[in-house]
Amino acid sequence: MRLSFPYMGPTIVYKKLLELLGHDVVMPPKPNKEIIDLGVKYSPEFACFPFKVITGIYLKLMEKDVDTLVTSGGHGPCRAGYYGEVHKIILQDLGHEVEIIIIDSPHDDYKYFYEVIKRLKGDSSWLQVGRVIKTVYELTKALDEIEKTIEILRAYNDQGPINKLWMQAQEEFYQIKNTAEIKEIKNKYLNKLNKFEDSIPAETERYRIGIIGEIYVVLEQSINNQVEEKVNRFGFEVERSQYLTDWIRENVFPFTGKDLEEIEKKGEEFIEIEIGGHAQGNIGHAVNFKEKGFDGIIHLKPFGCLPELVSQSVIDDLSEKYEIPVLTISIDEQTADANVLTRVEAFLDMIKEKDYREVM
Ligand code: SF4
Repeated sequence: MRLSFPYMGPTIVYKKLLELLGHDVVMPPKPNKEIIDLGVKYSPEFACFPFKVITGIYLKLMEKDVDTLVTSGGHGPCRAGYYGEVHKIILQDLGHEVEIIIIDSPHDDYKYFYEVIKRLKGDSSWLQVGRVIKTVYELTKALDEIEKTIEILRAYNDQGPINKLWMQAQEEFYQIKNTAEIKEIKNKYLNKLNKFEDSIPAETERYRIGIIGEIYVVLEQSINNQVEEKVNRFGFEVERSQYLTDWIRENVFPFTGKDLEEIEKKGEEFIEIEIGGHAQGNIGHAVNFKEKGFDGIIHLKPFGCLPELVSQSVIDDLSEKYEIPVLTISIDEQTADANVLTRVEAFLDMIKEKDYREVM
């Protein structure tokens, strides 16, 4: 099998997982204008934006003779559960015979999950599979820990040197073979970042923004117009509602992620039932950010995403009740960088001017 997968967030994690299981893995291309245009051209007009981006990525991968695509599935009333089947039909119509392996959460169907892992493990023993999963999980945690530190420090420092360290760290993580190496690289880069910590001001001078929204646009910087860097540029710290570690804890390991369930429950006040995607959870995260003393929320909504459209419809009530400002940004192929920058700047200016802390 010559495998690949959609580009999303810390993509080296997926590559490492498949490589350590002994596969010939092709790194997917990072979304750019060419890929987005390609995806828009060959996707149904009213498909949600992440679907179109992934179509473009798959079509570019067809140029590299990839025969198998591995992707996550989805459950509940949103389109993620249909992505695999629809992408397969689109690729077939364009003359590409490809297999799409869909990894669904074991919580949905343990038997199916077992069959998929059995397929992907190839000749590796179950003991090796256990070791690979442990290594990849430790890698994800290390990447998330460094990124969370960066999302704070970049607010008070020149972004160039910090972004450079982030890129170097990812390159080094790319070479790892075991958990000892992960720990070593993580400590090395956290020590380097520690040198910037004196720049963090007193607690009363710190401003924090929580980013919520659909998982693909929240995790993938290349399609959300690097919104985190933009927020940092104006001296605000950032934390996202979703990191890959959380997704793994929630979807793969049994008996973990109870804290995430608690956060999601907070969303039931505004969205009573599960409506797909991360809508209910996002609302819970918004409430949680407020409880943690955050100063504002940026809500990222892909065009054509029903769950996030529902979230948007309750956000005014949430904002009023919890006295926290929320900026919703709709993301699609038309979203211009200058537009996002201007809206973010105006939103952050308003937060500092109005000083919502006084009304708490
Ligand atoms: S959550 Fe929204 S954007 Fe994501 S797959 Fe579902 S409908 Fe599409």
